[in-house]
Amino acid sequence: MPGVSIHIDNVTKRYGTVSVIRDVSLDIAPGEFLSLLGPSGSGKSTILMSLAGFTHPTKGVIRIDERDVTDLAPRSRNIGMVFQQYALFPHMTVEQNIAFPLLQRGMAKSEIGNRIEAITKLVGLVGLEKRPAPNLSGGQQQRVALARALVFQPPVLLMDEPLGALDKKMREHLQVEIKEIQRVTGTTVVFVTHDQSEALGMSDRLAVLNHGTVEQIGTPEELYDAPANAFVADFIGEANILSGTLVGWSDERCAIRIADGSVVEGTPIGNFPLQSETPVELVVRPRSIKLDQPKEGSLCGQVLSSSYFGESVSVRIKLAGGSEVTAKEPPTLRRVAGENLSVSWSYQNARVFQQKGE
Ligand code: ADP
Ligand code: MG
Repeated sequence: MPGVSIHIDNVTKRYGTVSVIRDVSLDIAPGEFLSLLGPSGSGKSTILMSLAGFTHPTKGVIRIDERDVTDLAPRSRNIGMVFQQYALFPHMTVEQNIAFPLLQRGMAKSEIGNRIEAITKLVGLVGLEKRPAPNLSGGQQQRVALARALVFQPPVLLMDEPLGALDKKMREHLQVEIKEIQRVTGTTVVFVTHDQSEALGMSDRLAVLNHGTVEQIGTPEELYDAPANAFVADFIGEANILSGTLVGWSDERCAIRIADGSVVEGTPIGNFPLQSETPVELVVRPRSIKLDQPKEGSLCGQVLSSSYFGESVSVRIKLAGGSEVTAKEPPTLRRVAGENLSVSWSYQNARVFQQKGE
């Protein structure tokens, strides 16, 4: 079944006096692949469980396909779910596991046979139908869980860290397959992960969560190139973050004094007061940092290490004030530990945010 829309309107979930998600609103388009990304405890599973109906929001409304489901029981929501722990029925074979939701729905035997044949092809389980579920590898078990979640053709599929228990190779393999299955079926997917590269690679859009609120939602490119704050910049891709105070500004750039007394430049983001001594954070991606021979009056540092990654070299540098930055360079340039270099970037490539008080 093609995917349907999901709307989460101002949903809050409190346990006692603690709000674990706060005023979360998300609009998910039919057939969209949306990831919820955030550190452990940021509220990802709580949002997913609220969509599934296993958690009841303290406040707010959830609509699926424009229908208010906030008070609807989980089984009436027609949603497929996959968790990190496979949760297969251990006393059943692969096909018995997959058939389970169809039997629950009272489907005819012949139709069940057809469905199982189609879904085992789709998820790559052909030949394993009679195998007892426990006699499968982790990757195969997760394919069964996926098949069982998709076999009744739900318009919405929720996945909570489904690949978290698998090794890197199997995880990357299944990332591609899940994405492909979603493309073929058109199912709306909400995918929970704390792995940013997984979220960047798979999602149409992602929502970054922190302390139960949405920090930013956007396409992978938007979040990477235009993070709304230092938290998102740090969480999506690699980022150097330097704290300092504002010492000068014009329309599109500002100057910041950092710990070692040097003054560096960036682009101010968000409407914060451009006042002298405002505490700010400057965020610059490793690939935007240029290293050069030391120059009088420029920001300087000492190479701590240089790590070769095939397509690039990651150079770790200690600045005079003690903070460290990482630069990404082509492998043709080789830096030596102990070497002194100047460190620079163009102000367009550095984003400056007001420092948030906790
Ligand atoms: P995530 O999936 O991002 O790791 P969760 O949604 O599981 O985060 O949890 C968010 C917060 O809510 C955590 O601090 C967690 O301890 C708390 N929490 C989750 N479920 C309960 C519960 N049933 N009772 C009390 N606190 C809970
Ligand atoms: Mg979780």
